[in-house]
Amino acid sequence: MPDRSAIHTRLRLVRTAVMARVGRPVRCEVCGQELFRGLPILWGGRVKFLGAESALVRTDWDKMNRMTFRHVELDRCRRPGR
Ligand SMILES: [Zn+2]
Repeated sequence: MPDRSAIHTRLRLVRTAVMARVGRPVRCEVCGQELFRGLPILWGGRVKFLGAESALVRTDWDKMNRMTFRHVELDRCRRPGR
């Protein structure tokens, strides 16, 4: 019987490779740096972002239907003039 942990790790690597190819770049609204590559999916009243699993980002709504992303760690945000 295959090791479940090994299968899970392999599936995670496949998901990462697929997102690198087909995912859309999501950029920090402050500095423009790419935060992650992902695809949004509506799932049971939630928006799930495939590809964002390891990204440390802050999200907000700046309009009723528009979500924004930015760095959480300010030392990683290359805001102009900093
Ligand atoms: Zn930033």
